[in-house]
Amino acid sequence: MKVLLLSSEVAPFAKTGGLADVAGALPLALKKLGIDVRVAMPGYSAIQWHGEVPEIVLPRIDVALGQDHFRASVTQGQLPQSDVPIYFINNPGLFHRDGLYQENGRDYVDNPHRFAFFCKAAIWMIKGLGWVPDVIHCNDWQTALVPVLLKSDPAMVQDPELRKIKTLFSIHNMAYQGNFWQEVVAELGLNPAVYHPEGLEYYGAVNTMKGGLVFADKLSTVSPTYAREIQTPAFGCGLDGVLRNRAQDLSGILNGINYDEWNPATDKHLPAHFSAEDLRGKAACKRALQEELGLKTAADVPLLVMISRLDPQKGLDILLPALPEILQKDVQLAVLGTGRADYESMLAEIAQRHPGQMAVTLKFDNGLAHRMEAGGDIFLMPSHFEPCGLNQLYSLRYGTLPLVRRTGGLADSVEALAPDARWGTGFVMEEYLEEELLKALQQALNLYKMPDLWKKTQVRAMNKDFSWAKSAQVYADLYEEMAGARA
Ligand code: ADP
Repeated sequence: MKVLLLSSEVAPFAKTGGLADVAGALPLALKKLGIDVRVAMPGYSAIQWHGEVPEIVLPRIDVALGQDHFRASVTQGQLPQSDVPIYFINNPGLFHRDGLYQENGRDYVDNPHRFAFFCKAAIWMIKGLGWVPDVIHCNDWQTALVPVLLKSDPAMVQDPELRKIKTLFSIHNMAYQGNFWQEVVAELGLNPAVYHPEGLEYYGAVNTMKGGLVFADKLSTVSPTYAREIQTPAFGCGLDGVLRNRAQDLSGILNGINYDEWNPATDKHLPAHFSAEDLRGKAACKRALQEELGLKTAADVPLLVMISRLDPQKGLDILLPALPEILQKDVQLAVLGTGRADYESMLAEIAQRHPGQMAVTLKFDNGLAHRMEAGGDIFLMPSHFEPCGLNQLYSLRYGTLPLVRRTGGLADSVEALAPDARWGTGFVMEEYLEEELLKALQQALNLYKMPDLWKKTQVRAMNKDFSWAKSAQVYADLYEEMAGARA
């Protein structure tokens, strides 16, 4: 089985969110199942090289987008500590920029061209390498034109090898669809026949994700609950009808996490280590975190942590109004995040009024994210919606009990604490309301006052298995099914 996984970001090379973690970890688990999996991503200038700098394998691919002609080169490296090849598709004019998708909060205006280029170049790369996958696994709108092209671009449809390739389109977040003006159909040189209401068209404009949803052979998303939710108007972001039409082809597969990277017993970012068998190091992590963030070093005060894009999705509209009441309690709060300017300034301002009790770090800092997962007591994730969510999975592993809303992957991974605390791994709020958040927090604080029960719950959470092995097998079965249909 040969699979090419395409993603606009892959950890540890370039990352803005959970998609990169998935694209960096799933292939490692697929490889262990014997799949010949390879990865391709754009060759951004921001890429952090891990190990060897890659070598050029294809010096020149010509890519036409409408009237414009671009050149790609392909360099090949490997995912760290593996023999999984990763191809970087290079074009300095398109990818050597300060951001991946945007700068100063503004999307690059040529994003449709940048990612259409990536899609086309990735397909022609297959021909250049002479390595033809059975399945191309596409992720999010940046790669959604691959199924569209394979089913409609005259040169690709006629190619005897390319026409046999099956495509899986995975949705990591319905909120980002790649919507562009109608003119891009011509600018990208797409077959005009795909621009209609049953194709790429969406209310007079181009919806790239819709193209993926319509033209891919199979669809998946990152949790079973989100797979159901996105077929409803409340979560489908306007494409729920398209998804209902394809319900038979849509699977929900929960993301796993990379336990080599996120393991409190070995984590290289931590000042001390711990495990479910021996939790002692967690207290040292908490103390070091309090010192690092300028919080009072108090062992017994529950430390709430939040690591998040600062976006309405993540629950800030109910968290911010609840903060005055939360901060009247005997708790500490540490927030790490970047995002919307108004959220950033509100958080910074509240933290300033609560020195020693609340700390806000407005940057992207992977090491600090690890130290916060380890040093915190309670992880806040009151998301409005959450396709899968990774931070609650990291929190479970680090014994930092998650407070989540019952939605998407949060519903599939955090078990609500029983009234007598005999089972459960976290604190679950039902409705997206400030009162519900405060109620769930009170439940957490009550449990915190009972150290024995708290510890038992931590151990239960830490022993949950969210490794990739199980989910990778589900993907492998899906690829087999698709390739079987191909044969
Ligand atoms: P999403 O993909 O919606 O942003 P996820 O929970 O699926 O949310 O994944 C977010 C990933 O990005 C996690 O690995 C998280 O630790 C990381 N992350 C988010 N914000 C920051 C930040 N400011 N600094 C470091 N890591 C962050």
